[in-house]
Amino acid sequence: MELSQRDITYLPGVGPKRAEMLKKELKVQTALDLLYVFPYKYIDRSRFYKINEIEDTETYVQIIGEFIDWQTIGAGKNLRLSARFTDGKDVIETVWFKGGKYVKLERGVKYIIFGKPSHFNHTYNIVHPEIELLKNANPETRKGLEPHYNTSGEMKAGWLNSKAMRKIIAGIMPDLKQGIPDTLPLSLREHYHLMDLTNSLINIHFPKDNISLKKARERLKFEELFYIQLQILKQTKRRELQFAGFRMPRVGESFNDFYFNRLPFPLTNAQKRVIKEIQTDLKSGKQMNRLLQGDVGSGKTLVALMCALLAKDNGYQTCIMAPTEILANQHMETVSKLLEGTKVRVELLTGSTTKRQREELHASLLSGETDILIGTHALIEDIVQFANLGLVIVDEQHRFGVAQRAKLWTKNINPPHVLVMTATPIPRTLAMTVYGDLSVSVIDELPPGRKPIQTLHYTQLRRDNINRFLREQISKGRQIYVVYPLIEENKKMDLTDLENGYRYMCEHFPDCRVSMVHGKMKPKEKDAHMQAFARGETQILVATTVIEVGVNVPNASVMVVENAERFGLSQLHQLRGRVGRGAEQSYCILLTRVELSKDTRKRMDIMVATNDGFRIAEADLQLRGPGDLEGTQQSGLPFELKIASLSTDGQLLEIARQAAGEVLDEDPELTLDKNQIYAHQLSRMKQRAVDWGLIS
Ligand code: ADP
Ligand code: MG
Repeated sequence: MELSQRDITYLPGVGPKRAEMLKKELKVQTALDLLYVFPYKYIDRSRFYKINEIEDTETYVQIIGEFIDWQTIGAGKNLRLSARFTDGKDVIETVWFKGGKYVKLERGVKYIIFGKPSHFNHTYNIVHPEIELLKNANPETRKGLEPHYNTSGEMKAGWLNSKAMRKIIAGIMPDLKQGIPDTLPLSLREHYHLMDLTNSLINIHFPKDNISLKKARERLKFEELFYIQLQILKQTKRRELQFAGFRMPRVGESFNDFYFNRLPFPLTNAQKRVIKEIQTDLKSGKQMNRLLQGDVGSGKTLVALMCALLAKDNGYQTCIMAPTEILANQHMETVSKLLEGTKVRVELLTGSTTKRQREELHASLLSGETDILIGTHALIEDIVQFANLGLVIVDEQHRFGVAQRAKLWTKNINPPHVLVMTATPIPRTLAMTVYGDLSVSVIDELPPGRKPIQTLHYTQLRRDNINRFLREQISKGRQIYVVYPLIEENKKMDLTDLENGYRYMCEHFPDCRVSMVHGKMKPKEKDAHMQAFARGETQILVATTVIEVGVNVPNASVMVVENAERFGLSQLHQLRGRVGRGAEQSYCILLTRVELSKDTRKRMDIMVATNDGFRIAEADLQLRGPGDLEGTQQSGLPFELKIASLSTDGQLLEIARQAAGEVLDEDPELTLDKNQIYAHQLSRMKQRAVDWGLIS
């Protein structure tokens, strides 16, 4: 029977009980599925270490030697065995906290011990090593690389540990070696120098050597990435054929009047380039799906506005969706000011819009009088309908989920053009997978005259120095943000932190006025405080992350982030972007406790080292992995990568995408005989997973 048909229950060493557990914990049904449970690491069992060669706690080691003495401490459940082991030269301590009474050691006999060193009292020891008499050791098991598998707590409790997995998978090998049908055609494998599937699966589990392992990994990664791309691109092509995009070829009065008479400053070259790119999309006849990435302060709002004017010149309405009310208000203010005295009509819709205002607004949207609607989530609601919505602009898109974005699509019979803007750059690999067919524009230039923000990392012990510095800045007429993290699980504590912070600032800066905003405030109250700060009536704004996105107060030159260790990289970057908006030198001060984890220290170091959003996004991806990346939790990585990594396999992803594109260029619906392998594999994937082609 083919491995893809064989139920795991009947594999050697499995049986009904284990099968049930494997199905539940690893979602595997067949022998073939099990072969796609890949080891997470390999240990070189051919190498023996000397004790003085141990240099970290990451690498497993095996050592040949003798136990010289041992003692048991405690009794019963608390019995602990500790034994000193020597390789003839040095001595290392081994410890059993559990099962010590079953360990029988002999003096003057050679053993092999195997385990992971831990750091203890300035030296290494090994807790719960595997031990084996040298004379009993089977040389076969000491050849080459030994695979290790991740198993869940439940599996371990049922003795289905890594070793058991290894045995079960080894049991499939004889059948696998007979050969299984490949999922990639020979021509493609030859073209990209890929190992065949049978050998890849053999070598991923029991590598012949490091080179075979590398080839096997590469092939399996390619396969994974290729099929994701094939699926995404196939959907995209189908959609392009299905929906024509609104055609907006005209550059008319609104745009020209704005461009020639009203622009408050010359556009940066990057802004010009991006507007051209968007304009090309708008007149192409294809529906635009474009991601606009531009660091905080790079001037995305202006680009958005000018695109909306293009839409108007072609008879279409635009809506601009912002993630918070504060931001929507601010956009409204900016845009209204810029359009003062023109015939372009802009309206605002947020949670605070009254019922009466809403009614009027709905009418003016349906009659087509309103050209641009700015708002929050409120504008997604079904009741908000347009006469002719042609362009949807989503600001700070990482704040919105896929479902929300999808809803905007249905606001016209044909989907409108979509422009999503973000200051949290999405690494290209992620954009290509999560957002599939999104084209990307980048504003990689800040308006002239900006000084790069200086970022400093201090521990809370240096508070006095920092206060002195803040006073100095305030005396120069600058304003200061002090931001506290929000911990969703503990809203009460957040508020306490914030209120203490507020009191602290009032006490230590008696000559200053201090504003405070947080998510629990009524919008009106919040707005009043924000406005007071924006107008310069208060010098210090103590806030939670409600100010994270978009807020624009050019005179604020210092951002103090309290408990910076609690923030992710992209959030810190967003916060930092609140300053550095005027001509003055700006500062971002990251305050943390003294003791920091390795990852936190790295985050702080990256923040201090660079202002480049792309570098920060890449680092974030490396540190946290794509699943945890801001924006992907909400938009949801729609699939799980088993072997490829979006942080390290970018190049392979590009190749796989290109390969998939070439297949589809020739045969968009995969109907040709030679492409049946692909069609078959796609339908297998569809049976198991969600459709990730439709999400952008
Ligand atoms: P973001 O990309 O973060 O949304 P904004 O659109 O809020 O940035 O712009 C930041 C600031 O830069 C605003 O005060 C805006 O008026 C200003 N700005 C935008 N474009 C230019 C430009 N070409 N020259 C000078 N200032 C600009
Ligand atoms: Mg913005």
